Amino acid sequence: MTSEVENKPVFCTESAKELVKELRASVATGKTKSYEWRLTQLNAMVKMMEEEEPQIVAALHDDLSKPELESSIYEAAIAMLKNSCRLAVKNMKHWMMPEKAKTSLVTFPSSAEIVSEPLGVVLVISAWNYPFLLSLDPIVGAIAAGNAIVLKPSEIAPATSLLLARLVAEYLDSSCIKVVEGAVPETAALLEQKWDKILYTGPCLLLKHQGLVSLALSTEISLQREHFQILGNGRVARIVMAAAAKHLTPVVMELGGKCPVIVDSDINLQVATRRIIAGKWGCNNGQACISPDYIITMKDYAQKLIDSFKCELERFYGKNPLESKDLSRIVNSNHFARLSKLLDEDKVSSKIIHGGERDKENLKITPTILLDVPRDSLIMNEEIFGPLLPVFLVDKVEDSFDVINSGTKPLAAYLFTNKKKLKEKFVATVSAGGLVINDTTVHLAEPTLPFGGVGDSGMGAYHGKFSFDAFSHKKAVLYRGFACDAFVRYPPYTRGKLGL
Ligand code: NAD
Repeated sequence: MTSEVENKPVFCTESAKELVKELRASVATGKTKSYEWRLTQLNAMVKMMEEEEPQIVAALHDDLSKPELESSIYEAAIAMLKNSCRLAVKNMKHWMMPEKAKTSLVTFPSSAEIVSEPLGVVLVISAWNYPFLLSLDPIVGAIAAGNAIVLKPSEIAPATSLLLARLVAEYLDSSCIKVVEGAVPETAALLEQKWDKILYTGPCLLLKHQGLVSLALSTEISLQREHFQILGNGRVARIVMAAAAKHLTPVVMELGGKCPVIVDSDINLQVATRRIIAGKWGCNNGQACISPDYIITMKDYAQKLIDSFKCELERFYGKNPLESKDLSRIVNSNHFARLSKLLDEDKVSSKIIHGGERDKENLKITPTILLDVPRDSLIMNEEIFGPLLPVFLVDKVEDSFDVINSGTKPLAAYLFTNKKKLKEKFVATVSAGGLVINDTTVHLAEPTLPFGGVGDSGMGAYHGKFSFDAFSHKKAVLYRGFACDAFVRYPPYTRGKLGL
């Protein structure tokens, strides 16, 4: 079927149904289960990234005006993604092997193992902000685990989406791995189908303050969740889960949230400032799920921190950051308007102490720091997902934990300190998808760590072996012989049989 307007194929419920049917038929041949198939696909993916790097970088530049080096280092995971593939290639045989399990007297004599089996046909829905990495990294795990896959890239990064469709068809086994491009109608058609797992990357809750909350600053903060309403795209995670629930499909939800950074005063300030800048503006100009969202620091230390930010920001992005080639633009005019709204709120605009310049035409916003932002402002209640960085003030560094714990659980939380006790308290009391001490965002690059959220920031995790596990069923297998057939388990049940 084709649309008369664009002469493009229309992807509807019927097409989605056919697609899943085709993939299930491929899975039924058993080919995706074989080690050789998995290996071939992963090696082909590495080859694709090596041969197509210029096209990948160009697409990312089209979609986000991402600096070339940032693309190579962080995104196409031209570094990260290749590492993911290589790690899977190196370890897959071992991951696929049944894992011995201990047995007890209850089943004596017996032996047991846990067998990792592919789930079948899985759906990956990805987001625009790291459109290449977020699309292909989950697929590495899904392939390693032996599944057929449909990828739905984000329509908000159209150049990358188009390139992904071409490259996946060209390099990978198109009878088992497909890309469906499109927006809500296409995703809805896909979501009507029965999948064996869905991995969704997108936003979590955006919370809108309704003006009813009384907020006490510093130590006694009472954030009443019932006074906030869910806004905008936060509902998409629920749409995906509701669709999955209809078919009892398990999900991995890679969502977002407000990632706090606590800055203590006993630190190497220059290194800390640079690492926060790298995690905030160096990552897609703040449009990253684990970008620092806001800073918490002490009232009597804030000025020192801000002076350091001003100095390092000028060193990195020059006197006129609007012209800097090292800052990505805002992805589109909707997001530009959303960020402008956060900045233009009356109680917030007067708090800008650095940056704040905007170029609507080129969708650029400079690194912007806001000091002592009211807790009930929009910017302190929505995931910022952009180059704005509010600094929230507390009396003592320990008060920071209450600030974080009074909100929803973030995807990541960061702490800069040299105090052992504070680090221990941070780990013990802050619940987040991941924690980093004395740096930001770098845990993402450690495949030995699970990457995922908790509570409102998501569920399930991937990366490294966790990706393989996310797309496998862990099948319990118990082996017994015919000896030692304890008659005590058969009726009639008498006390005598038990020797009582
Ligand atoms: P997006 O607009 O690209 O949406 C994500 C996906 O949902 C897209 O594929 C889109 O087509 C689909 N979608 C949108 N509306 C839909 C609907 N009504 N029904 C079905 N599907 C729909 O991306 P976004 O929403 O702007 O994503 C940014 C968010 O993602 C941020 O909150 C960020 O924190 C989060 N994120 C999380 C991670 C992570 O790994 N945890 C990574 C990146 C981004």
